[in-house]
Amino acid sequence: MRKKTRQIHVGNVLIGGGAPIAVQSMTTMYTRDVDASVAQIHRLEDVGCELVRVAVPEKTDALALGAIKRQIHIPLIADIHYDPELALIAIEQGVDAVRINPGNLLRDKTTGSQYDTFKRIVEAAKAADIAMRIGVNSGSIDALERGPEMRKVSMRMRDDGTLERSDPAEERRREREELSSRMVAKALEYCGWADGLGYQNYKVSLKSSNVLTMVEAYRKFAAASDVPLHLGVTEAGTLVTGAVKSSVGFALLLADGIGDTIRVSLTAEPEEEIPVAYEILRSLDLRQRGVTFVSCPSCGRVEIDVLTIANEVERRLAKVQTPIQVAVMGCVVNGPGESKDADIGLSGGRGKGVIYKKGQFLKTVPEEDFLDEVLKEVAAILPESEAKLVYPGEGELGPVSAGRTRKAGIPAKTAEAIATASAAPKTRGKPLNIIPSGDGNEPGA
Ligand code: SF4
Repeated sequence: MRKKTRQIHVGNVLIGGGAPIAVQSMTTMYTRDVDASVAQIHRLEDVGCELVRVAVPEKTDALALGAIKRQIHIPLIADIHYDPELALIAIEQGVDAVRINPGNLLRDKTTGSQYDTFKRIVEAAKAADIAMRIGVNSGSIDALERGPEMRKVSMRMRDDGTLERSDPAEERRREREELSSRMVAKALEYCGWADGLGYQNYKVSLKSSNVLTMVEAYRKFAAASDVPLHLGVTEAGTLVTGAVKSSVGFALLLADGIGDTIRVSLTAEPEEEIPVAYEILRSLDLRQRGVTFVSCPSCGRVEIDVLTIANEVERRLAKVQTPIQVAVMGCVVNGPGESKDADIGLSGGRGKGVIYKKGQFLKTVPEEDFLDEVLKEVAAILPESEAKLVYPGEGELGPVSAGRTRKAGIPAKTAEAIATASAAPKTRGKPLNIIPSGDGNEPGA
């Protein structure tokens, strides 16, 4: 059951209030390079990105926003640090939202107040009817306000003069508790500023590179406010590390109904973030968009090159938005069962495979036609616009080069070596010393 939050809009995308959890990403191009930024955003749109953020470090970048906005089809969010003038230019350029951290905005030149700087941006956003993300990061709170409660390790001098070191796990727990509370207090203070200015079209993020800190902060904030939440783990890491950290953090929150939009942040091409985000949402039954892909890890029973075929099929289905299930299985042990559950399933056999369609046997195909045949059948159950992306035409896909296959056979030399090895006395390893289970009267005991 999702937590009820107030609903806002970022361009034409609704966030919170029961709207589908929106998937977003951020470009890696220099924003001032309009063509490169637009091309990357188009690639993101193709794989299902619903909101896109661009960094705006300088005025030249801010001035490029209008040209980018005019050439893309999803809402554009300007990411601003420090300089309020950049936010004001971004708003003039027609962005759909600005992301700011009120705590790192330059102070107003006349009054010396951060609130006054924030107020200028809020008033411009309100006039333009655009959204804002108030982003609080653990890094900025940590750097600014590290106090004695957040020491990494405590030491105490015992009476005998020796040092007693605190339990590091307990220290980390205390540090998380302190840091997350400070993040939430800051976020609530900024929300109070916005509400006080009669502005409610904003969401909040409470990011940390530490998954447990981030989870704790979002939970505390969600208990105290109905402002919609953007979930993210900052500096999450490369493809595998980042995907795991985001999955763990988001799953803990989303399963509790917390979170209205997500960004899986990866040190990778941003297009790679989107499938991970949808996989998390599909796994929790929160979004159904795109292909649920089932493939076996393969093992010593494998009859086909599952690794190559599965990766290739998944890659070619990346742009599909219709919810379907596709399976690629390596042999007859689990293959037929999983393949039958899928809309289209391939189960490997010796030099051939069986294709199932919605649980029914469809046909047997030779190994060299696996990719062509599977994609042809997937295309047949998709709407025409998506079918063209998956299967451009007969023979145009080319075969997937098989790595490990049964059909090619085991090379003769290897086969001989195997035969010799099997005939050799079994000297590998030390014989197990079996302890008799009886009373010790067995022969040889
Ligand atoms: S389906 Fe067959 S090849 Fe794949 S993991 Fe299971 S037993 Fe191994």
